[in-house]
Amino acid sequence: MTMFKLPELPYAYNALEPVMDEATLHFHHDKHHATYTANLNKALESHPELAEKSIRYLIAHLNLLPEDIRGAVRNNGGGYFNHALFWDMMAPERSTSFGGPVAGQIEKDFGSFEKFKKKFSAAAVSQFGSGWAWLVWNKDHLEVLSTANQDNPLTEGKKPLLALDVWEHAYYLQYQNRRPDFVEAFFWIINWDYVNELFEDAKKSRKCGAAE
Ligand code: MN
Repeated sequence: MTMFKLPELPYAYNALEPVMDEATLHFHHDKHHATYTANLNKALESHPELAEKSIRYLIAHLNLLPEDIRGAVRNNGGGYFNHALFWDMMAPERSTSFGGPVAGQIEKDFGSFEKFKKKFSAAAVSQFGSGWAWLVWNKDHLEVLSTANQDNPLTEGKKPLLALDVWEHAYYLQYQNRRPDFVEAFFWIINWDYVNELFEDAKKSRKCGAAE
């Protein structure tokens, strides 16, 4: 039986300072992400036939899951997957830079980096309550969108390339109610190397979600 494991952070807890401080990362990873992981495993216990499925498969095929666990997988599987992506999408300041194939695509689909940044930031700031802002690959172009709670665009067949958690637990210790400041600062710690990797993978399978 597959038990999903809480992934370790790919950097030290203080590596994203001053944008994201050590205390925030400890609570966010060790408590919140750990709880989603435990609750996902608990939900799957009653369905051993799903034991070999990947988290990408589960999230991409929520509609095929048994009804009694669909909600739990949507919320806790989403929480598990979203945070695993989120940690990898960040890196210490100046360790990567905007460039590579995804930069060209951003300029093509949004007009410029500044226009993309404005759109992504608006999605993050205006998401009412808890949720996420996303840059996604939708078959042949990029889109910016936001989702509520722990929903992931993969459920709609769109491939996530960049995600920003705007639940209050992601920033409140450090930024209190100043979500726009948190969103602005996030741009300093985007791991563009990883975004490019996800972009290359996303382009390979045009039928989004099918092969996950
Ligand atoms: Mn979170």
